[in-house]
Parts: sequence; C-alpha cells; structure tokens
Amino acid sequence: MKTLERIGFIALAMTLLAACGQQEPTKTETSQDSTKEETPKSETKPSARPAHWGYTGDEGPANWGNLDPVYNMCAHGTHQSPIDIEKSDVVAGTDFTLNYGSHPAFHVAHNEHMDEIIDNGHTIQVSVEEGSETTINGKTYALKQFHFHTPSEHTVDGMHFPMEMHLVHQSDDESLAVVSVLFEEGETPNANFDKIIAHIPNQKGDSKHVTDTELNINTVVPSEQPAYHYSGSLTTPPCSEDVQWLVMKNTISLTPEQIGAFAAKIAENNRPVQPLNDRVVNADEIDFETE
Ligand SMILES: [Zn+2]
Repeated sequence: MKTLERIGFIALAMTLLAACGQQEPTKTETSQDSTKEETPKSETKPSARPAHWGYTGDEGPANWGNLDPVYNMCAHGTHQSPIDIEKSDVVAGTDFTLNYGSHPAFHVAHNEHMDEIIDNGHTIQVSVEEGSETTINGKTYALKQFHFHTPSEHTVDGMHFPMEMHLVHQSDDESLAVVSVLFEEGETPNANFDKIIAHIPNQKGDSKHVTDTELNINTVVPSEQPAYHYSGSLTTPPCSEDVQWLVMKNTISLTPEQIGAFAAKIAENNRPVQPLNDRVVNADEIDFETE
C-alpha cells in the first residue's frame, strides 16, 4: 500500500514538474550536454551506465527514483539524506575523531562524472590521496574526496546555509561516512579556500591535478569540532543508505565572493530535506553537555 501511495505521489510530482517546465521555457545551465556525450554513435543497446540525473525538471530530485531501477532508494528509502536537524530533538551519544593531515597534491574536478565511490556529476570535487581519516564510534573511514553544494542540503531548525561541503570517507569494508561542513557569509576572506578556488576548472568536465600547493584538510574544517551524527544516505543517486553522517555544528565563514566562486560553477545542487522517520540525531557528548 505504501508503495502505491508513493507511486501516486511521484506521478503527481512528475505532473507538477512537467507543468513547471512548460511555464519556464528558458533553460538554465544544466548538465544535459553530458547526456549526449555519453551516447555512442552506432550503439543500439542501452548503455550500462545508470540514467542521467539533475536538479531541475524531469531529471530533478522528486523524480530520481523513476529514472533508473538502480535509483530505487531515492524514492523508497526511509533513511534518506539530507535532513532538517531540529536542535531540541538531538540526543547525546556519538564518539568521533577527525584525524586530518596534509596532502601534497590534490585533484579538482568541475562537474565531472566520477567513476569512484560516488557518481557525483554536479559539483566541484576535490580528491585526495590517503592520509586523512575519521573514526566514528570505533570504526575508521579514510577521506577520499570532498565536494560542495549551494545552498546547503542539511538545514538546522529549518534554516538553510549558503553552502555545504561534504567530505566523503570510505572504510576498508567499503561503507561510507560523510563529514558535512556548513558555511556562513563573513567579511574576511578565508585564505585556505582561495587555494581551491584558484584551481576550479572553468569548463564542465575539466579537471586539474594540482601538485604545487599543499592542502591541509584541518584548515578547511572548523577547528572546534562538535557534530550531529545520524545514519542516512547519499544525497545523489543511487541514494544508497547506511551512510554515517557527521554534520559539524560550527560553521566556516567565507566572503560572499568566495561562496559566489563556487555557486557560479555549480548552480543550485541541493536535494530537498527528507523525512527523519524513525531515526534519532545524536551529538558529540562534550559539546552537548555545554549547551
Ligand atoms: Zn554531497
């Protein structure tokens, strides 16, 4: 029954999206170009590659679950991300450590489909070699990449932030943990982010391998690190669950120009918040007791 209700809702959502599409013929810069580039000229068989997805129209978040059977969890998962974090409902009880180091080289990609742990085709993504990790409740996850969403995907007491960074980690058994950092606008430019901004490729699909700049991950996360913890999903297809999320309570401040440098390249790439359902949001104990 639940499934039928959901299908009904999705059909309604599709109708609404179609209606919106008709009223708005001006196409913003989307990633539709890459749909074409993936189609082999004389190929008649369907591609093994999962369906293209985006943030607007028929390819938008409300329809992800219908675009490809492997995206089923986007429509039917019950532990999805992002969520709205209601501070008054947070319960103490998470233990975590961030052990971030310095990386002598990194890789910046703009809107590239990565065949790595996440096919994250709609963002600025920085990949690093081994050397940084996080431990959550005794389990260790190695940092693989971090990327950006404008505006934020998570909300706190219903409030969006202008940008959110996801540091994606993977454990030896291939389970995932994401550390999320929320950004606020401030007056002082953040020199650490200028290192990344300076290397953002101009063209979609381009990437740069940077070897002349040391990137210390500790400088791109808040120095004091209390966080909210919950179990969720990837916020992009295939929306796989059992992803451990740490959303940092403290924000990082960037100037409007710095945030604009990311936003200009990635546009709006935030999935709407998903129902919490039966989940509980925990918080780092020390910070929780001081509130
Ligand atoms: Zn993300």
